[in-house]
Amino acid sequence: MKKILQDLSFAQLKNLVAELGGKPFRAVQLYKGMALGKRISEINADAPLREKLLADYEDEPVAVEKTFRSADGTEKYLFRLSDGNLIEGVLMKYKYGNTQCVSTQVGCRMGCKFCASTLGGLVRNLTSGEILSQVYKVNALHAEGKSRGVTNIVLMGSGEPLDNYDEVVGFLKNVTAEEGINISARNISLSTCGLAPDIYRLADEGIPVNLTISLHQTTDEGRRRTMPIANRYSIAEILQACSYYFEKTGRRYIFEYSLISGENCDAEHAEQLIALLKGRPCHVNLIRLNAVKERELRSPDDRQAYRFLGLLTKGGLSATLRRSMGGDIGGACGQLRANYINGQTI
Ligand code: SAH
Repeated sequence: MKKILQDLSFAQLKNLVAELGGKPFRAVQLYKGMALGKRISEINADAPLREKLLADYEDEPVAVEKTFRSADGTEKYLFRLSDGNLIEGVLMKYKYGNTQCVSTQVGCRMGCKFCASTLGGLVRNLTSGEILSQVYKVNALHAEGKSRGVTNIVLMGSGEPLDNYDEVVGFLKNVTAEEGINISARNISLSTCGLAPDIYRLADEGIPVNLTISLHQTTDEGRRRTMPIANRYSIAEILQACSYYFEKTGRRYIFEYSLISGENCDAEHAEQLIALLKGRPCHVNLIRLNAVKERELRSPDDRQAYRFLGLLTKGGLSATLRRSMGGDIGGACGQLRANYINGQTI
């Protein structure tokens, strides 16, 4: 595999272009061209410079292999990487803008019982430029006139972002950089299953993205049943890290809580969740579990889901039940890639 030009910051690209004998404005052309989702060979830059770059760098590190459109407007993408690996992404359309869900790893080694991305373990980490290229590609598909096609980003595709810390932070720096696509950190959410020490590191990076924790259970014991990472870090340790994140960034943090029938959404769980989170500067996002066919777990019905939401809000928590989108195109984490690899389209 060649190197990836999208890994470089604008300053690094300027140095590279200078080393290769190119004029400074060529670096601007290249950086802007890449942000428009173009291949290097398509960018209007000096031909000899382009040839030199293409000798060492991938022409198109992330290509759109297939696009699936849901009846509700959600789009799901299957991307092909230079080494043939596949990753997936989603674009959800809301009134206020378009939110893209990006992947940070091929596969995942966290082993959560409800998630399809982890079924085959971790294949490899993505580089920062491979994460960024997903945004460039989807933005280019949806940009109309001057408006951005992608206004918000969530790091909730396959992979555990904090298990690929350096590349993810590199991505965050480049995606928020003024010279590039310039998406504000406030419009970016990073979701983690709870790698507590890395939450402290992230708080100190000076990139105040929204922190989202995949909690899904109210006790360490329950969490250990569905999320192996709970053997390493307790809920108390995660909450402490969240407090530090809030102190440093001033950003309210969010808990993702996937409702699993018979596991985590009875009245006792509501009480425990209220005791755990009441008074904290946080929000609880309830999601109906997307049943993964390789797994036994099921979502509760709507009545139980709304009942659980009612109990939380009555108990003083800020909580919402997320509208499920793109269910007809394999909405849940890793399902599309898993199905595609197994030879089915959906
Ligand atoms: N590894 C990170 C980000 C990727 S998963 C994390 O754990 O947060 C993104 C979110 O989707 C997480 O909250 C995850 O728990 C949730 N998720 C995964 N599979 C799901 C499923 N089948 N149904 C509902 N939510 C799921």
